[in-house]
Amino acid sequence: MSDLSQTITGFDVWHLAVPVVSARDHGIGRVEGSCEIVVLRLTSESGDQGFGEASPWSVFTGTPEATYAALDRYLRPLVVGQKVGDRAAIMAKAQRAVAHCTEAKAALESALLDLAGHIAGLPVWAFLGGKCRDTIPLSCSIANPDFDADIALMERLRADGVGLIKLKTGFKDHAFDVMRLERIAQDFPEFGVRVDYNQGLEIEEAIPRVLDVAQFQPDFIEQPVRFHHFDMMAQLRGMTDVPLLADESVFGPEDMVRAAREGICDGVSIKIMKSGGLARGQSVARIAAANGLMAYGGDMFEAGLAHLAGTHMIAATPEITLGCEFYQASYFLTEDILETPFQVENGQVVVPDSPGLGARPDLDKMKRFSVRTSS
Ligand SMILES: [Mg+2]
Repeated sequence: MSDLSQTITGFDVWHLAVPVVSARDHGIGRVEGSCEIVVLRLTSESGDQGFGEASPWSVFTGTPEATYAALDRYLRPLVVGQKVGDRAAIMAKAQRAVAHCTEAKAALESALLDLAGHIAGLPVWAFLGGKCRDTIPLSCSIANPDFDADIALMERLRADGVGLIKLKTGFKDHAFDVMRLERIAQDFPEFGVRVDYNQGLEIEEAIPRVLDVAQFQPDFIEQPVRFHHFDMMAQLRGMTDVPLLADESVFGPEDMVRAAREGICDGVSIKIMKSGGLARGQSVARIAAANGLMAYGGDMFEAGLAHLAGTHMIAATPEITLGCEFYQASYFLTEDILETPFQVENGQVVVPDSPGLGARPDLDKMKRFSVRTSS
């Protein structure tokens, strides 16, 4: 059976803890030991399968426990028995059935697209409007509290042909941030440098610190203050020529409309884990572009399966022009969950042309990293 009118018969969920190589500090939170993700597998009448990943982070989007419950208990009954091709209808129901839990919805839409792709013999980007690029420039985040380790990472990145780095700031003192920017400018001048505070600054310290960092002329400065401080974001934007990016302030298209109206940013970090899926991520990009704003392909602490979903979304979205940060599978996880490596060549993520997302999770690894599963 090769048509998309067949029904979805299987719905399996895994909560995984995937080991990581080091600690990482990001403004308002730290990740160490492992990153916890949730993987969904859908099966259709024909026996075809589609996989999707949710990559929650408790201080940012939500918890793995809530993500698991959203899928296993609340979204399962909306999906099993539905037609594979009715993705828009299923996602509209999911949007109303569970508040927030955007990572669960991203995993659901990824799995629906992967399943449809395997049945139809088409890559996921073909279902999202077609492809506008074959590769996407990769940015790797510099976020290790041990800066010597990050210097070794930057040397590796340079050797690998990666041209973009994003310095995570605001988790220690300002002198540490300035010291690292000076060192990068001196020893790694070939990198395009972005700065991301991940909401790390208090209101009273934001203006002097952001203006100080702006003197280094990074490509952009991302989310210096807490997500709800729209007024301070708008004020900072008016004080510097360096573009200000919104990340935590903008989850879905609704936030993007408000952000554009209130003039809080020059661009936005788009993540399928925030928008609640690939189609909604494309909507964020189009609203941004229609308002003259830039867009960047961000991510959470993800494994390669989520990177692939983001890659297909960006491949089909010409408005996302600032590259992507799908570095974790290559540079942060001890071992990725995919059967074949997430493909990065000479600093560029390669857009897959094979059916579905382009790679499958390795079930033996899933078993090894499993915290719990419904299967
Ligand atoms: Mg960010």
